[in-house]
Amino acid sequence: MPAIKSGKVLVTGSNGYISVWIVKLLLEAGFSVRGTIRTPDKAAYLQKLFASYGDKLEFVVVKDITLPGAFDEAVKGVDAIEHLASPFHLRSSHPDDMIIPAVQGTHTILQSALEHGANVKRIVVTSSVASVDELVDYAKVYTEDDWNDQSVREAKEKGKDCSPSHSYRASKALAEKEAWKFVEKHKGQIGWDLVTICPPYVYGPVLQEVKSADALNTSMASWYNTVVKGAADDDTLANVGGSWVDVRDVAATHVMSLTVEGAGNKRFVNAAGQYKWQDWVLAARKIDPKLPAGNASYDPEKAVHLNVFGSTRVQDILGVTYRTKEETARDSLANLREHGWY
Ligand code: NDP
Repeated sequence: MPAIKSGKVLVTGSNGYISVWIVKLLLEAGFSVRGTIRTPDKAAYLQKLFASYGDKLEFVVVKDITLPGAFDEAVKGVDAIEHLASPFHLRSSHPDDMIIPAVQGTHTILQSALEHGANVKRIVVTSSVASVDELVDYAKVYTEDDWNDQSVREAKEKGKDCSPSHSYRASKALAEKEAWKFVEKHKGQIGWDLVTICPPYVYGPVLQEVKSADALNTSMASWYNTVVKGAADDDTLANVGGSWVDVRDVAATHVMSLTVEGAGNKRFVNAAGQYKWQDWVLAARKIDPKLPAGNASYDPEKAVHLNVFGSTRVQDILGVTYRTKEETARDSLANLREHGWY
């Protein structure tokens, strides 16, 4: 399928952290956007934020993404879809709380696109590195060829005793597998390409409506609590972390996944680099030395090794470039300050 250079894009979960940046970049690139929201009250803030784009932005309410046909109306007349609506939190009491909306929501939008998306040429599904890496082999360098089966096993075997982290990770792995399975099953009938994007932890300025710092989205809440509020202990600061990417770079990856022809039917790991929490503390304190000092005896050489993502596919095919930790820290702090949260 050819790339999509203009037209209307459906963004699901359009009021979320990553989605609002995608909506912004799509509008700036000249696309029209139709966003799905769960309740009508979520549109007002976004309509105000993007008022200068007038009727290039519209919203549809999709109350329950797990119901068959939920997106039938939403997909009509759109040229592409960015599917982000999916739970991301670590409070689940059973894996099904995460897996059902993630998998069923993915299936539902693809089925609606198959039956009613006559104009759809490309569908981007936001997956995660949670769908790629397993938390067992820290010597391994992970790429798009890898799948996290470990969390899926944990979810299946442990049920309600599965950790919220594995429940979330299983939901992402199973949802992405569902998408690729759907494409394989219907390859003779569909007129669109699938792209999946696998970001690690996403940090950077928040553009979505957040009423108080307590209500920040999951990834930015951990950044804020650790870097600004000093909530983590020394061991966490020195040894816990992962891979990360700036929210604006993830959003750009989503737009390029539509506009670059070679993106079709590819899976992309979308990681800028690695961190231990103390690295963020140090980057932020270069901007504001009054922030909490964290772990004064941190030695990166002695920190616990973490999973590494070794792919350059996103740079090679899409030409994505990444912001540095210093830029993300600087802009996140400025953004949190604008909100009056530090
Ligand atoms: P947010 O929590 O900010 O946004 C999630 C969006 O999905 C919201 O619009 C939310 O709607 C909607 N949503 C959540 N649960 C459901 C549900 N059960 N049914 C329908 N809609 C639902 O999350 P992010 O922007 O951080 O994440 C967006 C996507 O990116 C997710 O798929 C997530 O897994 C993925 N991702 C995020 C990463 C990160 O670090 N932030 C890293 C890797 C992947 P509402 O506001 O009504 O709850």
